[in-house]
Amino acid sequence: MTDRNARHQQSMQKLKTHVDGRVAAATEQRGLLMVFTGNGKGKTTAAWGTVTRALGYGYRVGVVQFIKGLWECGERERLAEDANLEVAVMATGFTWETQNRDSDIAACQNVWREAERMLADPGVYLVVLDELTYMLKFGYLDFATLEQALAKRPAEQTVIVTGRNAHRDLLAMADTVTEMQEIRHAFNDGLQARRGIDY
Ligand code: ATP
Ligand code: MG
Repeated sequence: MTDRNARHQQSMQKLKTHVDGRVAAATEQRGLLMVFTGNGKGKTTAAWGTVTRALGYGYRVGVVQFIKGLWECGERERLAEDANLEVAVMATGFTWETQNRDSDIAACQNVWREAERMLADPGVYLVVLDELTYMLKFGYLDFATLEQALAKRPAEQTVIVTGRNAHRDLLAMADTVTEMQEIRHAFNDGLQARRGIDY
């Protein structure tokens, strides 16, 4: 046992040296571009988790919901009362519902204007562009427009983009990219999405 304790102490000391070194090396301070992508569950949940974190410190946060704006969303319900949160939603059902490319594009452009305003506002600490990847994929928003808005945003502002099949150039620009990997999803076994759990 003493041996094991001694080995543990040594390995923790080694770990501490390593972690302290890494912490000391991280000296840059600025807002981040983060992408949560992949086929597994958790992208939007993680974004709202970060929203809650930022609001917890009294920062202003903007959330733009592409695609799923009209759907119920528990986090939005709960956090809406926070005056520091602004949510903009794409005011239409989507693609497989509307089946009308022109009206989808118009809806996308309208909500994108809200996004652009948030991305230009130095008072907004965090901007979430939820399900934005599909706008690029469908060609409703061009990458150059997004790239410009991201590039000229305030230095302290963090942006989170969520959605599957993220544009390669967006991934290249991002500071943090997390891919949610699907190991299994209950839906594929016929289990319905649950209120308060899945949305
Ligand atoms: P969540 O909102 O739960 O964090 P997500 O943002 O990672 O999920 P989306 O592709 O936006 O995933 O899907 C949103 C809805 O679809 C949620 O109700 C979610 O539970 C469900 N979902 C997520 N991943 C899968 C999957 N691999 N198969 C089926 N349904 C999924
Ligand atoms: Mg999502």
